[in-house]
Amino acid sequence: MTITKSEQGYYCKICGEEKQRATMQIVPVDCWSCGSPMKMALILVSGTWLGPEAFTSDQIELARSKSVVIQEQFSKTSESKYFANTCPNCKNFIGEFFIHEYLYLPAEDIDLGFVCGKCALKNIENLI
Ligand SMILES: [Zn+2]
Ligand SMILES: [Zn+2]
Repeated sequence: MTITKSEQGYYCKICGEEKQRATMQIVPVDCWSCGSPMKMALILVSGTWLGPEAFTSDQIELARSKSVVIQEQFSKTSESKYFANTCPNCKNFIGEFFIHEYLYLPAEDIDLGFVCGKCALKNIENLI
């Protein structure tokens, strides 16, 4: 069966941009603070890695269903709340700037289909 571009929702309904194939990675890591095993979730879309601060609520639910602990954190820099991968043991979280240290580890890949990378990045613009 051939799936047409419109059936896949190939263009973003919000900004009209072409959507990109996205993959969520569930990465088993050791907490940088207490060393406990934990899981973190990342999304790879159009060559960019996104942390939970850019996830939609559906994507956060998906990550949580894979035993990733995602909790709301407060950014003093931007004075806003955002979601982050959190250690279930010590409650420290993996900040945006440390995500690159965890890339390319063996991970469970989940195909998310097509998402709009432009809109996803808009979610985190205010935090950087
Ligand atoms: Zn968009
Ligand atoms: Zn910890």
